[in-house]
Amino acid sequence: MSTATNLKIHNFSAGPCILPQEVLQKAAESVIDYEGTGLSIIEMSHRSKPFEAVMVRAQSLVKELLGAPDHYGVVFLGGGASLGFHMVPLNYMRTGGKAAYANTGEWASRAVKESKLVGETIVVASSEDKNFSYIPKGFAIPSDADYFHFTSNNTIFGTQYKQFPKSPVPVVCDMSSDIFSRPVNVADFALIYGGAQKNMGPAGATVYLMDPERLGRTGRKLSPMLDLKNHADKESMYNTPPVFAVYVSMLTMEWMKRMGGVAEMEKRNAAKAKLLYDAVDRLPMFRGTTAVEDRSVMNPTFVMNDAAMEPAFDALWKEAGISGIRGHRSVGGYRASMYNALPIESVQVLVDVMEEFAKKNG
Ligand SMILES: *Cc1c(COP(=O)(O)O)cnc(C)c1O
Repeated sequence: MSTATNLKIHNFSAGPCILPQEVLQKAAESVIDYEGTGLSIIEMSHRSKPFEAVMVRAQSLVKELLGAPDHYGVVFLGGGASLGFHMVPLNYMRTGGKAAYANTGEWASRAVKESKLVGETIVVASSEDKNFSYIPKGFAIPSDADYFHFTSNNTIFGTQYKQFPKSPVPVVCDMSSDIFSRPVNVADFALIYGGAQKNMGPAGATVYLMDPERLGRTGRKLSPMLDLKNHADKESMYNTPPVFAVYVSMLTMEWMKRMGGVAEMEKRNAAKAKLLYDAVDRLPMFRGTTAVEDRSVMNPTFVMNDAAMEPAFDALWKEAGISGIRGHRSVGGYRASMYNALPIESVQVLVDVMEEFAKKNG
């Protein structure tokens, strides 16, 4: 097995995305033989002692890394954050009640759509008027809403809340693409949820971190598979959990903890973002696509002022071993996703390529 080729790729993929090399190594070993049991981690019962220990450890690491209150619960489910868009209103909107949403991008829009299928949904803030290039501020959230939903980081458009909105009602947040990238005050949220594949592990698991006291209050009868209270009560073992995704997420969280936790992740992420945005601002042929104060630390987006130069630039970064920086089809240009596991050295390679290209063509 060779990891040497892997190491030369600078992986800016938006998701699924880069994971720490040592996590991949350990995961690969465990697929063959989990801790000397003679069984693969993916061929043992989810109710076996070894896997139960993995589940308990993964749940406790989510809480430990984020400093969650003791009574909060953690479950790992299938279906992606996209199923979460539907489960949120089912579990938090009273029958005949209503929900408030901020619409700041593609994923936020999908969350709004799913909530509308369940009940009255008010969009209290939107940045759609400027192609989601900023974060709306200073909006009012009605105090008779059952909850307020927002998306902390807009993966596609490259914007991020630097300050979370103050809300008179319970707050639900899709943190898919910046969970564990910075400290948050978990007690301010009724629910934080997200797909694992952007900062936490491989695709296949969706994490829900929630205050159990807020569950089971809607008066709505739910299928047990859609009922967060059921999954929380059953400790994420109501049905077979996504065992491999939970295991690799656990390894990645152990890695974050060893590196110094989310406070250290925040420092590293800030340094990486500064390095790249400084280059975007310094080199006249490039330009950021979002409001400067709302720039995402996770998913910087930028374009070339002269789109005709793109093919030549593309050839140069591909030659340097850079992968995954083409922008999402709805924005165009470039998106350099810089999740926790991306080393700053990779960002330096990208910046060097931008400098070199500017020097040759500026
Ligand atoms: C990727 C992403 C999603 C969708 O996640 P799936 O796991 O593919 O359903 C939702 N919200 C945000 C913010 C995302 O980045």
